[in-house]
Amino acid sequence: MQAEEEDEVSVEEYVARSSFTGNDNDQLSFSSGDVLLVHAKTSSEWWWAELRGVKGYVPASYLLQGAQEGEEEEEEEDPWQHKEYFGSYGTLRLHLEMLSDKSRTETYRQVILSNSASLRNKVVMDLGCGTGIISLFCAQLAEPSEVYAVEASSMAEYTRQLVKQNGCEELVTVLQGRAEEIELPERVDVLVSEWMGNCLLFEFMVESVLRARDRWLKEGGVMWPSSAALSLVPCQADSYYAETMAFWEQPYGLDFTPLQPLAQQEFFTKPKFSHVIEPEDCLTAPCDVLQLDMYTLQVKDLEEIKGHFHFCVEKSGVFHGFSAWFKVQFESLQRGGAPVELNTGPNSEPTHWKQTLFMLDRPVSVHAEDAISGSISLRRNPVWRRHMTVTLHWSVNCSQVGTKSFPMWR
Ligand code: SAH
Repeated sequence: MQAEEEDEVSVEEYVARSSFTGNDNDQLSFSSGDVLLVHAKTSSEWWWAELRGVKGYVPASYLLQGAQEGEEEEEEEDPWQHKEYFGSYGTLRLHLEMLSDKSRTETYRQVILSNSASLRNKVVMDLGCGTGIISLFCAQLAEPSEVYAVEASSMAEYTRQLVKQNGCEELVTVLQGRAEEIELPERVDVLVSEWMGNCLLFEFMVESVLRARDRWLKEGGVMWPSSAALSLVPCQADSYYAETMAFWEQPYGLDFTPLQPLAQQEFFTKPKFSHVIEPEDCLTAPCDVLQLDMYTLQVKDLEEIKGHFHFCVEKSGVFHGFSAWFKVQFESLQRGGAPVELNTGPNSEPTHWKQTLFMLDRPVSVHAEDAISGSISLRRNPVWRRHMTVTLHWSVNCSQVGTKSFPMWR
C-alpha cells in the first residue's frame, strides 16, 4: 500500500507537443496530444515514460507538463527563445565578435563594393542589421535609392545613432522589429543578410530570411547570400580526445577508466562548437553534403535536410569524428561577373564560426585508400525551433558501420 502510494505520487502526467517516432526497442513512439506518464527523469534529455501500458524512453523536449482535466495549460515557455536570442543581440559581445571577424565582414564589404554599379538606385533590405554594418557599406560604397535596416533587438536604437553619426540617414532607414512583423513602404530589389549559424543552420534565422523573401523581394530580385553549402570531412582530433578521454587512463599513475563512459556522455554527446581543425587533421578531401538555393528553398524544407558522402582516405590516421563548416556564395549582379564566396573551412581564412566537431564514441584506425561513406541528416527540433539534431550514419570499407545522433542543443 505504502509503495503503491509513493509510486503514484512520483508519476507525472505530460502531454506530447508533437509526434515522435522511436528509433529502437527502448524508445516509445507517440503522437501530438498523447498523454504520457513519466516514471523517471533518467537524464535531462531522455525520460522513462508510459503510454497505453507500454513503457519506454521518450525525448523530454517533446513533452509539456500535464494539461489537467482537459484544460490546455498556458504555454509559458517560448520555443523560439526570442527573449534570450534577441536579448543576446542587444548587448555588444556578439556584435564585437562578428565585427572583429575580418574575413566575414570584409566579404560582405567586398560583395557591396564589387557590385556597386549595379546597386545604383536599388532598394535594399538588410535583414538583421545588428549595428548596421552592411547597410552602412551599401550607403558608403554604392548609391542605392533606399536601405531598410531591420533589427529586432534593442541594438536598433544604437544603430540609428550610428547611421546618423556616419551621415547616412538620408539613405538608411532603421526599422526596429522582427522582419516577420515589420511593414515596409515598398518591395525590395536586394535582400542581404548575415544569417548563418554553426553548421550553417543552427538558430534557424534562415527561416526569417525566407519569409522576408516571399513577402518583400521583388520578382527577379536578388538574394545575398544566393546559395549555401555544408561541408564535411572525417578528421583526427588528437588533442581533444587526449584531453577529454585518454586523460582518464592514468592520471597521477591511477586507473580512472571507470569514468570514461561518463566522459563520453559529457564530451561526445553534443557537437563541439568553435573547434579549429587544422588542414593536416583532415583524413580526406572535404565533401559538400548539403546545398541550399536561397531562391527556391522553402521553410518546410528546413524540417529535415539530408545529404550523402563518400570519402577516400588519403593517409593513415585515427578517425575521431567528423568536422563540419559552411560556405556561402553571393552572385554577381553584373552579367558574367564572378560570385564572391565566404568559406569557413580549415583551408580558408579563420572566422568566428570556426568549425563544428562531431566525435565518434570510439576512434577507428584508417588507412590510405579506405572508403568512408554514409549520410547526414539535420532534423529541426519540432519544439525548440532554433535547435536541431544532426544524425550521421557511416561505414568504413562498407563493413564497420556506425550511427550517432547529436542534439544541437536540444
Ligand atoms: N548584420 C549584422 C548582424 C548579424 S547577426 C552584421 O553583419 O554584423 C544577426 C542579427 O539579426 C542579430 O542582430 C539579430 O538580432 C537579428 N535578427 C535575427 N532574426 C531577426 C528577425 N527575424 N528580425 C529582425 N532581426 C533579426
